[in-house]
Amino acid sequence: MSTPAAQPSHLLQNYARQDVRFVRGKGCRLWDDAGREYLDAFAGVAVSALGHAHPGLTAAIARQAGELIHVSNHYRIQEQEDLARELVQRAFPGRMLFCNSGTEANEAAYKIVRVWGNQADGGVKRRMIAFHNGFHGRTLGSLSITANPAYREPFEPLPPAEFLPFGDVAALTAAMAAGGVAGVFVEPIQGEGGLHVAPPGFLAAVRALCDRHGALLVIDEVQTGIGRTGAAFAWQHDGVAPDLMALAKGLGGGVPIGAVMVREAIAGLLKPGMHGTTFGGNPLACAAALTVVREVLTPRFLADITARGRELVAGLAGLFGADRVRGRGLLIGVQLDQAPGPLVIACRAQGLVVGPSGGNTLRLAPPLIITAAEIGELVEKLAAAKKAAGF
Ligand SMILES: *Cc1c(COP(=O)(O)O)cnc(C)c1O
Repeated sequence: MSTPAAQPSHLLQNYARQDVRFVRGKGCRLWDDAGREYLDAFAGVAVSALGHAHPGLTAAIARQAGELIHVSNHYRIQEQEDLARELVQRAFPGRMLFCNSGTEANEAAYKIVRVWGNQADGGVKRRMIAFHNGFHGRTLGSLSITANPAYREPFEPLPPAEFLPFGDVAALTAAMAAGGVAGVFVEPIQGEGGLHVAPPGFLAAVRALCDRHGALLVIDEVQTGIGRTGAAFAWQHDGVAPDLMALAKGLGGGVPIGAVMVREAIAGLLKPGMHGTTFGGNPLACAAALTVVREVLTPRFLADITARGRELVAGLAGLFGADRVRGRGLLIGVQLDQAPGPLVIACRAQGLVVGPSGGNTLRLAPPLIITAAEIGELVEKLAAAKKAAGF
């Protein structure tokens, strides 16, 4: 999406970076190094939940940095225990493991599923099932359950996994009937793979099949969790709960933190020394995440996300046609006829930051604090960019 000449010369070339440097932010606004102002409708890939330079989050980070940033998991950490309690209370009876990213959260979930499968009742279970267009991360375990061949093939061989069409209950029914499935990994909305929303009833069917065949259900809420879809966790829209849940992205409001929540009944599988991380759940990251969780996960804030999402969908439907707009809350995709790159660039020229997703999809994931007026501005700028880029 950028000319090769713009690429930084001492960095690896694994990102197609846009030729812009943001140096400052406030709320939903960003400024680049030439002083140009932008409306941020991407939030650094659905991360900056409270926007930029949020006073409460900034203060919490500064306060914690002034007290204690890091001690390691050799010791008890009050902020970690508080954060675990706040999250578990809003989800299901379970326990938490903290790490630093989404892929680490899924990697930990994968390892727990593997341990469970190695000692499952009635014989070892090792089959891992995931879905086409799903994304679970870039470390080898998480990559092994990520379908996209472009991400996988350079790194093969990977641990075996099976991929089924997203939303296809019949395919999953048949696959699970063959036996030996340890875990099913699924996103409620495929954030990287084109903003496909699990069809109504799909997550409930996956839950029922996992129960029937004695497999663990892992719901990847890395992108959808912590209020992004208007519920604390997107599976709550479907009235089902997973056995393991992966979190990251929005959780720390920009400070790196990931987590996996594990249902109480299987929370004892990891014994001391079996898995760990040096940085995971350090006081700084947990203080940031506590601020985000307490701010976002209130009925009123969640209702605002839902309302802003509806306004955004209505505006986008007016521009592109309702049949091209999908998603939930403030995680919305627009199906285009071509790769979104030129439209992303045209938006930037209008002072609007948006992002791509898979399958010719434009992704909108603004900070969760976005106002109704800013939604209006977003749609106006996108309309101008659409016209300018000829989309
Ligand atoms: C972004 C993402 C990941 C990977 O998270 P990282 O922090 O980049 O490792 C995993 N799963 C989903 C659903 C994601 O959106």
